[in-house]
Amino acid sequence: MSALDQIASLLGSENILASDTDMQPYLIDWRTVYQGKAQAVITPRSTEQVSQLLSWANAHDQVIVPQGGNTGLVGGGIPDKSGASLLLSLRKMNQIRGLSVENRSMVAEAGCVLEDLQKAAEAADLYFPLNLAARGSCSIGGNLSTNAGGLNVLRYGNARDLCLGLEVVLANGQVMNLLSALRKDNTGYDLKNLFIGAEGTLGVITAASLKLFSLPKARATALAGVRSVADGVALLSRLQAKSGDQVEAFEILPAVLLDAVLEHFPQTQKPLAEAHPFILLMEIASSDPALGEAEADGATPMNRLMEAFLAEAFEDGLITDATLAANETQRQKLWDIREVAPDISNKVQNPVNSDISVRVADLDAFYQDASQRVRAICETTRICGFGHMGDGNLHFNLYEKPGGDPAWEQKRPALVEAVYESLAKFNGSISAEHGIGVSKAARLAATKDPVALHLMQQIKQLLDPKNLLNPGKILK
Ligand code: FAD
Ligand code: ZN
Repeated sequence: MSALDQIASLLGSENILASDTDMQPYLIDWRTVYQGKAQAVITPRSTEQVSQLLSWANAHDQVIVPQGGNTGLVGGGIPDKSGASLLLSLRKMNQIRGLSVENRSMVAEAGCVLEDLQKAAEAADLYFPLNLAARGSCSIGGNLSTNAGGLNVLRYGNARDLCLGLEVVLANGQVMNLLSALRKDNTGYDLKNLFIGAEGTLGVITAASLKLFSLPKARATALAGVRSVADGVALLSRLQAKSGDQVEAFEILPAVLLDAVLEHFPQTQKPLAEAHPFILLMEIASSDPALGEAEADGATPMNRLMEAFLAEAFEDGLITDATLAANETQRQKLWDIREVAPDISNKVQNPVNSDISVRVADLDAFYQDASQRVRAICETTRICGFGHMGDGNLHFNLYEKPGGDPAWEQKRPALVEAVYESLAKFNGSISAEHGIGVSKAARLAATKDPVALHLMQQIKQLLDPKNLLNPGKILK
């Protein structure tokens, strides 16, 4: 019996896709940078089926590449070009197993789409705060496997912080059940955290217990112009203090990126009359509905708080202009600018993309240092460092205009190095939220503390001795 026939007899032929057309969407990544090959795409429906598949793979030395929503940005979910791998798609495992209002938690299968989990929580008047632009297609299994960050990390933490427990199928097919939604559990090593951020190299996540929070009922969203990153950092601190740590999001975009957004996305609108070196998108939120109720003059207490903050910051010269969303439509318009910003990378020729983090206190110095190094190599490069400034996480991307420097392609490798050299100076991270995948495996090997790297290799060896789970990802 062929390998696929054997798997069909275990899982049923309806859970196997083997034609090129059926497999194609699973074999190319969202940015169309990575294209792989596979023998077949296997789509199990239950933990038991995943276990059967992995146990079979272990017996037959079969490489398995797990995949969720295939929105990853580092090539982690795409198999290599050999065509020998089996791609394991968790998409059919999309059930919410339970939600407890009292425990403020839910148990969801790995293939659940993030947006569906957000909606399920909302239906129970609760909040699942993980939020990223890929929410309509990424899966919770993928979010946990990449330890995704996104827009609300500042207040609620990254995917790791939102996870109470996991169910994982190990490389030999054993199922490890750590799903209990306990808030406190100090019974030895915290194994679930090994699998979070492991990008499918240590085991396959099949379900997770997730933390839920009070649903925000009142929000204030503002966009302000600032002169420098340093002013942005000062404002963040002030807004945290003023709002009682209710800052949900604090994002930054430089003027060149705003211009590119307005040019490439006609649905977006210029938010402020004049140009400012940077714009900040800030949001505060509370679950107290009274703070969101409009008073006689139409303003809500939440908006009044933000207004007072902006007025004071303007008086102190920290902001140069600002706009406050008066309703949900206006709020969405401000967010549209931020949410389409990463897509500029798909509109320009061979950009330099990065996902770095430094201490919030070092953001300004890093921005200036990296910009200087970049400028020394290429005068005309558009420096588009943007993103989750509240977490010290920037997508420090570089674009060249059509008709710009004719030597851009030749200079590109030096530009990449310039960004990472500056990052090293500030002890920053080469991957703040997207993970390592294949795209940064070499850089990880070159920059990680050697003792830590060796320990990572030993953990991999222990959990996946035959190197069958997503080989070549994270560790080369
Ligand atoms: P996939 O792409 O399918 O897989 C990602 C990795 O996890 C792969 O290594 C895969 O092998 C592994 N994996 C997937 N499922 C499992 C599983 N069940 N068990 C074991 N391993 C598994 N990321 C952020 O952190 N913040 C952002 O703001 C952000 N914004 C984004 C915006 C857009 C438009 C896009 C396209 C991506 C964005 N990302 C962001 C990237 C982010 O990594 C993914 O969106 C998401 O977390 C990955 O989920 P996924 O289900 O698509 O995983
Ligand atoms: Zn991001």
